[in-house]
Amino acid sequence: MTPVFPRAGVSLPTAVRAEGVWIEAADGKKYIDASGGALVVSVGHGDPEILKAMCEQADRLSYVHASAFTTEALEAYAEELAPVLPFESPFVYPVSGGSEAVETAFKMARAYHLARGDEGRHKIISRWGSYHGNTRGALDASGRAPLRAPYLPWLDKSIHVPAVYEYRCPLMTHPNACGKEHAVELERVIEEEGPETVAAFIAEPIAGATLGAAVPPDDYWPAIAEVCNRHDVLLIADEVMTGFGRTGLWFGVDNWSVSPDIIVAGKGASSGYWPLGLAIASEPVGETVAGHGFVHGFTYSHNAVGAAVGRAVLRRLTDGDLVGACHAQGARLIGELRAVLADYPLVGDVRGRGLMIGIELVSDKTANTPFPRSRRAAETVVEAARERGLLLYHSTGCADGVNGDVIMLGPPFIVSNDVLDQIVSLTVEAVGVLR
Ligand code: PLP
Repeated sequence: MTPVFPRAGVSLPTAVRAEGVWIEAADGKKYIDASGGALVVSVGHGDPEILKAMCEQADRLSYVHASAFTTEALEAYAEELAPVLPFESPFVYPVSGGSEAVETAFKMARAYHLARGDEGRHKIISRWGSYHGNTRGALDASGRAPLRAPYLPWLDKSIHVPAVYEYRCPLMTHPNACGKEHAVELERVIEEEGPETVAAFIAEPIAGATLGAAVPPDDYWPAIAEVCNRHDVLLIADEVMTGFGRTGLWFGVDNWSVSPDIIVAGKGASSGYWPLGLAIASEPVGETVAGHGFVHGFTYSHNAVGAAVGRAVLRRLTDGDLVGACHAQGARLIGELRAVLADYPLVGDVRGRGLMIGIELVSDKTANTPFPRSRRAAETVVEAARERGLLLYHSTGCADGVNGDVIMLGPPFIVSNDVLDQIVSLTVEAVGVLR
């Protein structure tokens, strides 16, 4: 019996090393990391340049408190990050992961309104069918029923608008104008709450873990940004999954040329080499908040080793044109999956952008009927894939909060054509066990 508190309810193999897209277990079995963990690993495992940058920084200076010092690594990282962000002069607040970054963004939004004398603005609006993290504030904003259920007595401060889920869109205007209709609904909610009470709207540019790479219609983001802007509601783009190239562009919002007020990042920012999250404010927000003093902080924020790792990952993405590689390999992977799964009766949808791809499993393709939860369809496919040496990510509850099965693929951007072909054939085999 291990003293480690288990994350999953099953006994797990022990991972001993990883390189490129491969992870090796203690029993010698090798797995293709076709989901980069939870869509985290972008530049691949065991990259020598990143390990070197991490070790050099740790050797020279591993920790100082952020209230006492800045560091060369952090200053250089923030400088080099600026050109890839959809902001003129960003203010970068580094933390230890996505949930912390979301909490930081919420506080930044509140601090911004306070600094401007708008003391009534405190409410956060978010969407059903979303995921923003597991700390209390981030979980409250998340619209994922099974994760919220045990903690409901602590939640329900955030206000939720409907999910943006094209595969199951109930709107009459679908598919021609449902994006705008979502924006009309957001505006209705802002007005119902009183715009003078609303601090921010947060959403994932492409819904990740909860809806499995659900891409919004093209009229959605521009209309949402316009509504937020008109009501002085800050727009927070949760790019923890979509950021740092995952959708084939630097940030998910770049797919619609939208400039939010705050970007939240994590996962791909460090490609898993260090627990790194970022809350990045646009110049007007950053200047206002920093100018008035920001009551916030964590022991491990602004970490020098994290910054050195983030910088090395950024260089790897830039110098190797890995964002372009993600775009190309993503188009190839989704194209091949769509082709081979087109006639498969239990696959309802293959969706996504770049190397962020979701496959929704259904019991009846003509009616989009989800499997009952008791069937454990997603888990069955993930297990069948694992037996075959393929690691996939999954999510459940997408259809109605309980039922609905999605498997997600998101390999590192360095994935070769040969390995992509293996991923496709092993995925098809794994999905085939549902027959
Ligand atoms: N936001 C999004 C969109 C995410 O996908 C996640 C994690 O999956 C988070 C926030 C929370 O990040 P973390 O698990 O690093 O706290």
